[in-house]
Amino acid sequence: MGLTKAKKEKVDVMALNKPKIVILGAGYGGLMTVTRLTKYVGPNDADITLVNKHNYHYETTWMHEASAGTLHHDRCRYQIKDVINQSRVNFVQDTVKAIKIDEKKVVLANGELQYDYLVIGLGAVPETFGIKGLKEYAFPIANINTSRLLREHIELQFATYNTEAEKRPDRLTIVVGGAGFTGIEFLGELAARVPELCKEYDVDRSLVRIICVEAAPTVLPGFDPELVDYAVHYLEENGVEFKIGTAVQECTPEGVRVGKKDEEPEQIKSQTVVWAAGVRGHPIVEEAGFENMRGRVKVNPDLRAPGHDNVFILGDSSLFMNEDTERPYPPTAQIAMQQGITVAKNLGRLIKGGELEEFKPDIKGTVASLGEHNAVGVVYGRKLKGTPASFMKKVIDNRSLFMIGGLGLTLKKGKFKFF
Ligand code: FAD
Ligand code: NAD
Repeated sequence: MGLTKAKKEKVDVMALNKPKIVILGAGYGGLMTVTRLTKYVGPNDADITLVNKHNYHYETTWMHEASAGTLHHDRCRYQIKDVINQSRVNFVQDTVKAIKIDEKKVVLANGELQYDYLVIGLGAVPETFGIKGLKEYAFPIANINTSRLLREHIELQFATYNTEAEKRPDRLTIVVGGAGFTGIEFLGELAARVPELCKEYDVDRSLVRIICVEAAPTVLPGFDPELVDYAVHYLEENGVEFKIGTAVQECTPEGVRVGKKDEEPEQIKSQTVVWAAGVRGHPIVEEAGFENMRGRVKVNPDLRAPGHDNVFILGDSSLFMNEDTERPYPPTAQIAMQQGITVAKNLGRLIKGGELEEFKPDIKGTVASLGEHNAVGVVYGRKLKGTPASFMKKVIDNRSLFMIGGLGLTLKKGKFKFF
């Protein structure tokens, strides 16, 4: 039976008046927001739209594995439609081109979206600090596409090496710029992958060089010194050479120029320069006109952008201060996911009434993998290394799957080879 005219008009008016929530990015922050939001906002309270470049979510935190080729990239991604409530969330696969704050509008590659409330979770991009040649010639570890390219590129160098009359050592020299968590985790995977490649392509392992160049006086700056020593020792034993206190100064098609302060720079010939020296917030956030520091917006305690009561920013595009250290929290998936829960709650309160909650990070620890079976970490204040740390890393990886997609997704994509 059809609706009476009066009822239909009422439904139309309700639909017209329903606030529009637009969430940009289906990463850790965006997906946590959208999966929790339907708990706090009913179908008649708001229209929810999620925008993402691809129809899949990828585990950014596993990209070092996909990049080295120790884990296939398909294991690191899943369909967004499988984890969202499709009857409540309108998913738009498109690329965000610009945010027009004054017009409450998002410009996409294929259209536009008006919003009443905006959530920005577009993640980060590699930070090159303006160093010449890095954008053109170095490989970042950022997403499925960059990982697939890097894995294939490394393999191509091995495949090419024995086909050329003049053997080129630069094909077998891999330089990793930056020994933060990304650099160290990637080195851990390379240490395992290189012997496999040597076997597959009939290359003597002693001909392959893996060189890590770190500008700071130590690997993993700020991390527990005993665990740093353990990681460095393990990686060196597995063929990684470290150049500490040495900065990448320029990247060219032939390799990199690196140097210590006040010393003559050194040229390293390499066909594979990997850039793992940090990230900055998404350029769209900068271009939108938010006040920012390296693309990250220092958000209010309720995670809204200062001066913009209808805009939340979370994850790597946000900057949240640690009041104890008076320094920003490092951008992590751990924080992005926790922020997603707060953003969902606060959107509910903005729409239905109630005081907004302040975001309180609950940092459980940090674990860095060193290949599939080794790791170092501090969890709930306890130091871990070796098998227990590696076990914990897999528990953390599985937990993020569970929080977004429940048991089904965890069983499908989780890591269960613990030893
Ligand atoms: P992301 O998860 O990166 O998601 C951003 C989303 O936005 C993506 O889906 C992307 O496709 C989409 N997007 C981007 N641009 C556009 C556009 N223009 N239009 C539409 N969509 C767009 N953190 C930890 O806590 N633990 C770890 O173990 C850990 N390991 C890491 C390992 C590696 C190799 C790396 C690189 C990072 C690691 N991190 C880790 C950091 C962590 O991955 C990030 O902090 C986290 O991904 C940030 O989440 P986010 O939601 O802000 O962005
Ligand atoms: P980072 O900023 O943590 O580390 C970058 C490193 O590159 C630093 O050690 C820095 O000194 C070095 N560097 C900078 N410029 C250099 C230059 N010109 N030459 C040589 N070295 C240079 O960045 P990241 O490792 O990419 O991590 C990004 C974020 O993701 C961080 O917040 C990190 O905590 C997080 N992350 C976490 C994990 C984990 O928890 N397991 C893993 C990866 C990344």
